[in-house]
Amino acid sequence: MTRIFSGIKPTGHMTLGNYLGAVRQWVAADQEPDDALFCVVDLHALTVEHEPARVRRLSRQAATLLIAAGLDPRRCTLFVQSHVDEHTRLAYLLECTATDGELRRMIQYREKAAKAQAAGDGVRLSLLTYPVLMAADILAYGAGEVPVGDDQRQHVELTRDLAVRFNQRYGHTFTVPQATHPAVAARVMDLQDPTSKMGKSHENGAGIVYLLDEPEVVRRKVMRAVTDSGDGAVVHDRETRPGVANLLDILAACTGGDPAALAEGYSGYGALKRDVADAVVELLRPLRQRHAELAADPAQVDEVLREGAERARGLARPVVDRAYEAIGLLRP
Ligand code: ATP
Ligand code: MG
Repeated sequence: MTRIFSGIKPTGHMTLGNYLGAVRQWVAADQEPDDALFCVVDLHALTVEHEPARVRRLSRQAATLLIAAGLDPRRCTLFVQSHVDEHTRLAYLLECTATDGELRRMIQYREKAAKAQAAGDGVRLSLLTYPVLMAADILAYGAGEVPVGDDQRQHVELTRDLAVRFNQRYGHTFTVPQATHPAVAARVMDLQDPTSKMGKSHENGAGIVYLLDEPEVVRRKVMRAVTDSGDGAVVHDRETRPGVANLLDILAACTGGDPAALAEGYSGYGALKRDVADAVVELLRPLRQRHAELAADPAQVDEVLREGAERARGLARPVVDRAYEAIGLLRP
């Protein structure tokens, strides 16, 4: 069975984009605990300005939401990245495999570095090296598949390059992983700015549906979504009508079906928005309920994370030890 690994950063409240682009694929993977690893990648949240108490709170919240979304701790390994030292141990060896040039080419680095500079904050060095840590997250487990949203394509590509380079230079050590993306909604766009990705760390939440938003809030955000000027026709065309295409993608992802075919059933934006709002509210209803139950007993979630970290450590350690040996370090 192909082992799968994926993660989410505690940089903000989880969004509909995170759910449709990534988490839903994780839940759909019917697995054994050793073959499905999902991680709250908290170290990655430290690559931009952060508030310590908030990162800690969001880490537990992310884990709680993942269980609420349907990840079954008996069928997967759910853990927090910083609980397993193997990630940072391996990241250093991969920093000795990657080049400065290839990291500076990463689109997310360029975007987030520009944003930090505009805010008058320094660009943390870890923002540049974070894709290497992400490669370590994946390679430490010999994962073959990485279910992620479309925006992570380039980082998984880098992970593959590093695995291949390391293997060629030092002997076969790592499985070369492959990214997988959902057929629809692999890149959910911001409802207020449909040319940019919905991202949980964005300051303006008006165009972002958070998984824990109250139903009325979800409805209001969807009804106020920016649609496209023009003749008001409902067609699925991401280039010329990104706002409407985004709504159709969300509807298709919630209800099943094809976005272009769904478009034919609408003659105006109002009815489309109402259906999208209903579909999203229904999709999130059970998740919100389950989250409320689980959040009442944080100790239970902490226990899942403790067990998860232990299992993860057991899987990662031999792989990382092998890499230390292969690269030429004297072992104790
Ligand atoms: P940040 O703004 O801090 O980068 P994010 O919302 O992009 O937050 P991540 O933790 O970086 O969230 O990503 C978690 C997973 O969610 C990744 O697999 C990523 O590809 C996916 N994802 C993030 N945003 C979207 C989106 N708008 N549409 C589809 N998938 C998404
Ligand atoms: Mg992101």
